[in-house]
Amino acid sequence: MSHDLSTGADPYHDIRDAVRALCAEFPPEYHRRVDEARGYPEEFVDALTRAGWMAALIPEEYGGSGLGLAEASVIMEEINRAGGNSGACHGQMYNMNTLVRHGSEEQRQRYLPRIASGELRLQSMAVTEPTTGTDTTRIKTTAVKRGNRWVINGQKVWISRVQHSDLMILLARTTPLDQVQKKSEGMSIFLVDIAAAMKSGMEVKPIANMVNHETNELFFDDLELPEDSLIGEEGKGFKYILTGLNAERTLIAAECIGDGYWFTDKVVAYAKERVVFGRPIGQNQGVQFPIAEAFIEIEAANLMRWDACRRYDAGLPCGAQANMAKYLAAKASWEAANACIQFHGGFGFANEYDVERKFRETRLYQVAPISTNLILSQVAEHVLGLPRSF
Ligand SMILES: Cc1cc2nc3c(=O)[nH]c(=O)nc-3n(C[C@H](O)[C@H](O)[C@H](O)COP(=O)(O)OP(=O)(O)OC[C@H]3O[C@@H](n4cnc5c(N)ncnc54)[C@H](O)[C@@H]3O)c2cc1C
Repeated sequence: MSHDLSTGADPYHDIRDAVRALCAEFPPEYHRRVDEARGYPEEFVDALTRAGWMAALIPEEYGGSGLGLAEASVIMEEINRAGGNSGACHGQMYNMNTLVRHGSEEQRQRYLPRIASGELRLQSMAVTEPTTGTDTTRIKTTAVKRGNRWVINGQKVWISRVQHSDLMILLARTTPLDQVQKKSEGMSIFLVDIAAAMKSGMEVKPIANMVNHETNELFFDDLELPEDSLIGEEGKGFKYILTGLNAERTLIAAECIGDGYWFTDKVVAYAKERVVFGRPIGQNQGVQFPIAEAFIEIEAANLMRWDACRRYDAGLPCGAQANMAKYLAAKASWEAANACIQFHGGFGFANEYDVERKFRETRLYQVAPISTNLILSQVAEHVLGLPRSF
């Protein structure tokens, strides 16, 4: 189902209204305080969980609401639009589909109802490594079968929400790169019990960073995982991760769209009120045009986001649309952020306006979860058929 702009009808207005009502209990001051304390919005994430929003993508037979990516994206969009930051909890949304689509029935039965009830959180996914960066097929973390255990060795970087999650999806090489026909083969994914892993071979080192985003370096030294922690078939992990990444990119596009609307609403209100040289600053075209331009780009990005959601939920290939939606939305929210901070003048830099916080938060999405350059190269090569550059 797509978002019908031509009639103005919003098929998701029920979800929007409900999420907005919940978010209204956590106004921007709440998120500002959490940011200043470099804390985690526990109460907010708990409230989202209790209301069932964190279980949106879990099928009904496992205790969730069985909604699609389109609905999940509305939840994330509304959090950002209300002045919050979905980065604290969006992992559960995109990781969920990896488990739902590729986990065994036994794994689904064991974990999904407990995630749906809020007893467990599945907020983390460990892919990125320090020495390989975006070149994921060269990851060096290995998983070797020893008896009925998998033994993990290696290192990850920038792995988010590990300290606020119970479970983590881990990508590791199970067949060395020089022994596979295609470099995307020979990697597998595992469901890791974080608390157990931290006692027996996984070290977690927090990385202080520009955004209040709990993210970490992980070190694996002979971490042993039970045999049944493997998700899906051995060697097919990269393919499974890609499904999750398409969901992740689409959800982050929606978050950027939420940010974009937050920035334009905020700057429009301010530009109408702030009087300099005897008139509202918003009466100057030099102020109006960058805001209007950002708004146009947000609306255009939104159309691509709905196309990505529609294709994902219909089980159609959606890699190009998910990437393009994320590219357009991250660019649009950044343009909106720039206009917002610029036309707030000095006040844009004052914490109490929340503009500088949201400005930092939305900047991340030009780099993570995938950089704009890598999206351009994906489109150039896989959509336009240009020669491969790497
Ligand atoms: C706050 C934060 C949270 C994160 N959370 C997670 C997480 O939970 N799990 C996880 O697995 N990862 C996570 N990441 C990692 C993130 O996905 C990567 O940082 C991102 O994919 C970029 O990879 P990199 O940092 O290794 O950059 P690199 O691959 O080193 O690239 C650096 C820059 O070089 C450019 N570049 C590289 N190669 C090319 C090329 N061939 N052509 C043109 N330009 C190129 C790009 O512009 C890129 O921005 C997180 C990162 C951050 C900052």
